[in-house]
Amino acid sequence: MSEDYEKLLDRAIEQIPKAVFESSRFQIPAAEVSIVGNRTNLRNFRIIASTLNREPEHLIKYLLRELGVAGNIEGTQAVFQGKFSNAAVDERIRHYAEEFVLCHECGKPDTKLKRHERFYILRCEACGARASVRSV
Ligand SMILES: [Zn+2]
Repeated sequence: MSEDYEKLLDRAIEQIPKAVFESSRFQIPAAEVSIVGNRTNLRNFRIIASTLNREPEHLIKYLLRELGVAGNIEGTQAVFQGKFSNAAVDERIRHYAEEFVLCHECGKPDTKLKRHERFYILRCEACGARASVRSV
């Protein structure tokens, strides 16, 4: 490896947001939450959805149901009608990933979620496993 190439690589790595890079190749960014009045804004909602490689509409539907509140997507953030801590939001996102993103057999994130009539199939591109998951 030439020195120039290594420098280039270092620079590229520096540009990757830290939380995403830290442990494995799959790390869910920590929820960036701010409470405004009686609402909670999840500021990096779209980044989280794209890291999970899932439709933002699917993710927010799940979060709203699990948190038991109303809310919506506003630009790049999600807004919940209620007050929630980072930890509370993180926990729901982790559960979402376990159920709808990570392969139930091998645990890898290389999966696709496909609607199949009234339910969803989580198909793993790494090991080929399929699992039916509830709809949100
Ligand atoms: Zn798998």
